Amino acid sequence: MVDGTGAPPARADVAIRGGRVAAVGDLGGERAARTLDVTGRAVTPGFIDIHAHSDEAMLVNGALESALHMGVTTVVNGNCGGSSAPVFGSATDELDRELARFELARSWNTFAEYAAAVERSGVAVNVCSFVGHGTLRASVMGAAARAPSATELAAMGALLDRSLEEGAIGLSSGLIYPPSAYGDTAELASLCGAVRERGALYASHIRNEGPRLLEAVEENLEIGRRSGARVQLSHHKAAGRRSWGLVRESTALVERARADGQDVAADQYPYAASSTGLAVVVPNWVHDGGPLAMCERLRDPAVRARIAAEGVADRVIFVERAADISPYLQASDIFAVPSSREGLSNALLEAMSCGLPCVAAAIPGVTDSVIEAGINGFIVPAGDDRALAATLARLLGDAALYHLTALLVLCAVIVVVIVPLDMRLLRRRVLGE
Ligand SMILES: [Zn+2]
Repeated sequence: MVDGTGAPPARADVAIRGGRVAAVGDLGGERAARTLDVTGRAVTPGFIDIHAHSDEAMLVNGALESALHMGVTTVVNGNCGGSSAPVFGSATDELDRELARFELARSWNTFAEYAAAVERSGVAVNVCSFVGHGTLRASVMGAAARAPSATELAAMGALLDRSLEEGAIGLSSGLIYPPSAYGDTAELASLCGAVRERGALYASHIRNEGPRLLEAVEENLEIGRRSGARVQLSHHKAAGRRSWGLVRESTALVERARADGQDVAADQYPYAASSTGLAVVVPNWVHDGGPLAMCERLRDPAVRARIAAEGVADRVIFVERAADISPYLQASDIFAVPSSREGLSNALLEAMSCGLPCVAAAIPGVTDSVIEAGINGFIVPAGDDRALAATLARLLGDAALYHLTALLVLCAVIVVVIVPLDMRLLRRRVLGE
């Protein structure tokens, strides 16, 4: 049994009565209606997924098996600057559009109304949520790319404070996602005043997780220092080949702050990939006014030329099946696996028209439309994984290194495992050991 208190693992029986833990210890003498023999396994309380994005998914499927099957019994939503509540003004339009994709209708504005709606819909796990900084901004000032007026900042603060009173666990920011990205350090530190007063938490998807990671971590710490709020560094990572290794320094920054007495923590994924919306490759200024304004703006060839000139991403890779080329995907800065052919087609055309170098596993229909549009890209015949791998290798330039590494690992396995096995076999045969 690993009880979650930090105590060392121990052997124990656990008794459950009415859905609650009734006793823990040596219960060999007790009788039970049902006994589960879990010898050799670990028994723990439910896990808390501190960084979930099940905001809408749990309303579609309240069973949330994807969480439960991993032992997760509490999910924390509202991360990365976006939450389902509180929503007013243009935040309601954004949310309604999002909910419409799942044929859901919104019945709330305030956080308390939202919590009641979640309760009514019935979710199998415990749920809590941050208030998204982007959601606050959208509620009060739309998706405007500017600093808030004093009145707007006060309105955001009041909305946050009320939501914290109604059960929200803190404030989250997503500083790569407009409109949250339009907020500066002072604005966030000011809002975090309410977070500190309520003993809540400030969790941030920081402003940069690539070459400017250290600056972004510093900003996160600064917001905590200025406001006195507890700070969480969400999904800590260094993304993109050029930035690999920076986490050593960023971790040192966090450790130093902790040693100085600041209440700051970080979390990370247990895997070496990340995912987000393709819109992040489009610079912040293009997002001014929200997604619809951005789409309108993208029609202008001059805007697209300016985006291309800013060099927003090294490359974008689109594939239908990620498994075939996973080694290459790891070495790439950005890739996407849209869930539908239509989505792939649109995303590919969009990315290419923004001047992003693209690689795509050709998919019938998609290829034709791209070629018809006369846009440059790298198209590989459908189903030809080898050709796709070769194209990726050429573009990424480090395939030789990858193959060499794979070969070295294989050699090491042969030397370490297979050769000693053989020697043992030989000795047994020859010496009769
Ligand atoms: Zn995030």
